[in-house]
Amino acid sequence: MTYDVIVVGAGPAGSIAAYNCARFGLKTLLLEKCTLPREKPCGGAVMYHGLRLIEGKLPKELVEQQIYGLRFLLNDGRSTEFVSDKLIGITVFRARFDEFLARRASDRGADLEENAHVIAASASRDSASVKLADGRSFDGRYLLGADGVNSVISRSLGLRPQRKDLTKVGLGMETDFYVGKEGVLKATRGNPSILEMSPVEGRVSYGWIFPKKEHLAIGIAGAAVHMRALRQRFDSFYKGVEKRIGVSLHLEKRRTFFLGGDGLNSKNVTHRAILIGDAAGFVDPLMGEGIAYAMKSGEFAASVINRAYGDDRYDEEALSEYQDLCRKEFSSNFAMASRVGVRGSSMADFILPRANGHKLASEVMTMVARGEIGYADIPYVVLKRLPREFPAIIKQVVQSHLQAPN
Ligand SMILES: Cc1cc2nc3c(=O)[nH]c(=O)nc-3n(C[C@H](O)[C@H](O)[C@H](O)COP(=O)(O)OP(=O)(O)OC[C@H]3O[C@@H](n4cnc5c(N)ncnc54)[C@H](O)[C@@H]3O)c2cc1C
Repeated sequence: MTYDVIVVGAGPAGSIAAYNCARFGLKTLLLEKCTLPREKPCGGAVMYHGLRLIEGKLPKELVEQQIYGLRFLLNDGRSTEFVSDKLIGITVFRARFDEFLARRASDRGADLEENAHVIAASASRDSASVKLADGRSFDGRYLLGADGVNSVISRSLGLRPQRKDLTKVGLGMETDFYVGKEGVLKATRGNPSILEMSPVEGRVSYGWIFPKKEHLAIGIAGAAVHMRALRQRFDSFYKGVEKRIGVSLHLEKRRTFFLGGDGLNSKNVTHRAILIGDAAGFVDPLMGEGIAYAMKSGEFAASVINRAYGDDRYDEEALSEYQDLCRKEFSSNFAMASRVGVRGSSMADFILPRANGHKLASEVMTMVARGEIGYADIPYVVLKRLPREFPAIIKQVVQSHLQAPN
């Protein structure tokens, strides 16, 4: 049978794309190489701009913590906290979250095939098809590569050749430590609704502690080119955390994985085919956030394919609207994030303490986390609000100067 759309990979990108394709009435096949639920190395923080795409319709039991704030630890030991009265995200276990999204796509009408390992794909003006490890093959009018950072689809179609460049992708190591409810409360000083980010020795990467109900997700990530001796760095990071929070951390396993990157400078579209999510490289180069971008790119791809099908178009040009949509939506964040990433910790050390506790700073951080503005919009929002906030800001700056160590 010829499907209208074949989606390879049932992560957030593929499942959102498959859901939307099915919603448009397209005959959709979603192929996943693992049995669901499958493990995925990830901190499990899903920011609000991703949740918005499923209209917040997530079963309660999948939500580990509701997140209302961010805390940044600085190199000199100080910390800066931004807390909002609005929800900015949640934490989840990826295995369960991703399975929910895949079943949701299947309930909407997509055919979900687990244990379907795609080993090759082809796409031309005339046809698109995939070959599976078990010998099966499927034909489709369109093909969506949602198979993550090591994408077979991108390789088969000759897209994103610079993916192997270690300056363009990230590398991370993480795990969930079971500490019980009490441990989570102790580690978070009674407030598990805050995501904590901190610098990692050597300043080329960052670490995180993301609270779940009875676990702490702890990890480090950075540009792959800098992440030598990853295991030692990770161990030294979590042992430092253990000492600081006063909660014993029993390591069961370390999980390591590449992160996508440089998506906006890559070619993600060809005749009949589009790459989405990590396969396309859509990860925030500063924070390593990728789930919401994966979901949004899946939504864009489905809408572009739906339009192209309606116009009976299968050529690269018709699908290239996808690249424009992604560029428009993501470039404000990605470009600014890469620029800041280069001077990351020194800039953070300068700006964050000065913004600490300020209402405007918390509001701006909330808007970014909720996807209401991008990083690049921050200066405009601040300048617009400056006259109103001026007296409070001056007071804040003076106070932080007086408190800052010489
Ligand atoms: C250590 C680490 C921590 C992170 N923490 C966060 C975080 O807290 N918040 C956040 O927003 N982002 C985080 N990210 C990034 C985030 O995990 C990714 O951006 C996100 O998972 C991308 O989703 P995706 O659907 O594109 O790909 P994936 O989630 O990787 O899904 C790809 C799917 O394709 C399947 N697949 C792969 N190959 C094939 C094949 N050949 N055939 C069939 N199926 C295949 C896989 O089994 C998988 O199910 C983190 C990344 C890492 C490495």
